Amino acid sequence: MRKKTQLIHGGIVGDEHTGAVSVPIYQVSTYKQEEVGKHKGYEYSRTGNPTRFALEELIKDLEGGEAGFAFGSGMAAVTAVVMLLDAGDHIIMTDDVYGGTYRVMSKVLNRFGIESTLVDTSNLDEVKAAVQENTKMVYLETPTNPLLKITDIAEVAAFTKEQNLLLVVDNTFSTPYWQNPIALGADIVLHSATKYIGGHSDVVAGLVVVATKKLAEDLHFVQNSTGGVLGPQDSWLLIRGIKTLGIRMEEIEENTKTIVDFLQEHPLVSTIYYPGLESHVGHEVAKKQATGFGGMVSFDVGSKEKAEQVLRSTKYFTLAESLGAVESLISLPAQMTHASIPAERRAELGITDGLVRISVGLEDVEDLIEDLKHAFEA
Ligand SMILES: *Cc1c(COP(=O)(O)O)cnc(C)c1O
Repeated sequence: MRKKTQLIHGGIVGDEHTGAVSVPIYQVSTYKQEEVGKHKGYEYSRTGNPTRFALEELIKDLEGGEAGFAFGSGMAAVTAVVMLLDAGDHIIMTDDVYGGTYRVMSKVLNRFGIESTLVDTSNLDEVKAAVQENTKMVYLETPTNPLLKITDIAEVAAFTKEQNLLLVVDNTFSTPYWQNPIALGADIVLHSATKYIGGHSDVVAGLVVVATKKLAEDLHFVQNSTGGVLGPQDSWLLIRGIKTLGIRMEEIEENTKTIVDFLQEHPLVSTIYYPGLESHVGHEVAKKQATGFGGMVSFDVGSKEKAEQVLRSTKYFTLAESLGAVESLISLPAQMTHASIPAERRAELGITDGLVRISVGLEDVEDLIEDLKHAFEA
């Protein structure tokens, strides 16, 4: 089954009992047992719910893993994955990892004895140098936010296999449509499904796919024990969103390419970060490991003042956090998503005050370009 077909026919399709072509929303918490311990596979909806299971089967198929898991948010998914470890264990992480992931590691999970070191994972030597005796996991985000840095997943996977470390990849930016980390050697792939997978700015959710039966048992144990599960309504919305993931990603990428061409010509814009550009440091690796470059672009307009003015002036690019939706979004990483990172550290990473991030949506690209043009000239 090819990708676009799998988005529609993967997982569990429709309803056997009625012929309904859409999976029903099983709005239920508990299930009648015929006798004690004798049931139809469901006992209680934290442990398992048929609508959530249909979604979990679908994401499992899309990522090519052993089992899928749906959580109440991307952060619940990240936290559950880290809970596979024990107190005293150590994780090596991509340095410009999502702000919330940085926060949970440095302010919450650290209190339970899980240590982390941030390195530039696009440089394998830095990963190697960070390995300690207690290192158990390497956690990558690729492409990253907001500079779209790319880590070579297969290269890191070869190393983690040799060292017997778990390799986790946050695949939110690429989606399972463009990139499948398990096929590249990762053990676990996770998504903030709030973004492209849901795709319509109407659900907060997280998805995880694991590569082995052992990890599936362990993660189900954590999911059922800690309870951060996704509800049936939201599971259904994600199944619905996934059906158009392919067509959305293709169209978003077309729009993005046109916008990047426009940005390259505009005198206000200096540096542009987009993995689809040959000049991008990660271009070759991105081309090798993903089938598309996505719809996220960051660019520098020179100063905080200019950037704020651009953000005030756009009409179709909505000023908001988040990404990956049908509507185009615009944000200022230094003051929004990355505000909790100290200014010095931001400067080190290259997140300047004039850096604008856009998430290209599905509007007519001519309107989007006119919108940016007007905002640049305001
Ligand atoms: C948004 C995001 C998360 C967190 O997901 P939520 O659904 O907001 O909890 C994690 N990783 C990346 C890359 C994200 O963009």
